[in-house]
Amino acid sequence: MSDIEEHRKKIEEITLEMIKLLKTRTNIAKQIGDAKASLGMTVTDEEREDALRNQVTKLCKEIDLDQSTALKFLNFLFNESVKVQSDNKQTHLSVFLKAKALEEEGKKIIHLEVGEPDFQPPKEVKTALEEVYDKGYGKYGSPKGITELRKALASRENCSEENIMVCPGARFAVYLAITTLLNPGDEIIVIEPAWPAYKDCALNAGIKVRTIKTTLETSWKPSVEQINNAINENTKMIILNYPNNPAGNILPEELQDNIIQVAREHDLYVLSDEIYSEYRLGAGGRPHRPDDTGGFEYPCKSILEYNYQKSIITKSFSKSHAMTGFRIGYVIANPVIINKMSKLQALSLTNVSEPIQYVALQALKADTSENSQIISSRLETLCAFAEDIGLEFLEPNGAMYLFAKTKYKNFDATRFSEKLLEHGVAIAPGEGFGDYKEFFRITAIDETKLKEGMTILDTVLKESYE
Ligand code: PMP
Repeated sequence: MSDIEEHRKKIEEITLEMIKLLKTRTNIAKQIGDAKASLGMTVTDEEREDALRNQVTKLCKEIDLDQSTALKFLNFLFNESVKVQSDNKQTHLSVFLKAKALEEEGKKIIHLEVGEPDFQPPKEVKTALEEVYDKGYGKYGSPKGITELRKALASRENCSEENIMVCPGARFAVYLAITTLLNPGDEIIVIEPAWPAYKDCALNAGIKVRTIKTTLETSWKPSVEQINNAINENTKMIILNYPNNPAGNILPEELQDNIIQVAREHDLYVLSDEIYSEYRLGAGGRPHRPDDTGGFEYPCKSILEYNYQKSIITKSFSKSHAMTGFRIGYVIANPVIINKMSKLQALSLTNVSEPIQYVALQALKADTSENSQIISSRLETLCAFAEDIGLEFLEPNGAMYLFAKTKYKNFDATRFSEKLLEHGVAIAPGEGFGDYKEFFRITAIDETKLKEGMTILDTVLKESYE
């Protein structure tokens, strides 16, 4: 046998051995997953992962193996464990689907779980839908979006058309950013509680998520130290989402400045999901109400203002213009990033629906400040109800939710949400947003229904825990 043949044979044997080991490892991971589920533990244990990461780093030094490659391989293994242990976590979406099924059986449900404005898009949208056929929109187009819309968005965002790409919703923009800018084995930092799609997109692309857990006690603020501790040579991106879904908080400006500084120092992408930037309490002409726990004392500064070359801002017509089902949003970034993202958009979509882009263009002419005011006033009502019934929460600075817990010890929000659904009210259990089993998210819907829902919630809560 020639030398090369011999080596090839060896490589095949080693590879097959590795596959067998992977099978053994996967089986054990499944058993651990079952044990965690029965103990009510979360899937990812960052401390254990860190300990193993340290052992791998040490081993790399001993055997003289490139650390970055080994850690990427380790991240692949971590993600495989997460996939096989993937729990039956209840998210706002799974509760929504259950609620829908009950409605089909004829039950009346009050939806406090969905993140969807319950009012109509602006009337400009109706007119645009009527005229779009005659306007001739409806052919294949640029993957970055129609020029008129990109120009209009650029002027709104104070940037150039080259910095804008239209996407079918912010969700797809987030998916494109994570999938095209990062490689398998890279790491991203997600600050929890968080909208679940960031983690899911990363897992789907073989990217390792490092979560930073924040708490109600510290006003849902991450510390710079937590962020620094999560960074290693494979860390490529940090995700920010302020006003936050589900907690509704925004960051103090100095903290945000410091986070961007850390990102600059480590050359990290900053993916800032600013979909709720127009749902800020105090937006739409209402006076900012100072409070001592982190209320309106902070202006919500867009990440765009830092002029950081590696920032990606995602926005959408879903919330600001109540156009969730139209599937239209956009991304703001430097042209190099836009070009990379547009390649995957071209590959997967060709282009965003032209008629819908035209409708969005017309929607930009609408004055949406009333929407912001409606949400703002509903949030105030929601806070007042929640306070009355003794829930614990941080008053939101924006978005459209309240993330709350009860005063009861051993309160399990997932079980509670199941029980509440039997009584016709759907809420989003906290475990969908991270390790927050005692929390739940309530959406600020129309005041009459909100009051009805909160009254039922209070009754079921007292019946169950007092
Ligand atoms: N980001 C956040 C934080 C969200 O809450 C949502 C929707 N609930 C999205 C993005 C997705 O928005 P879109 O409808 O534009 O895809």
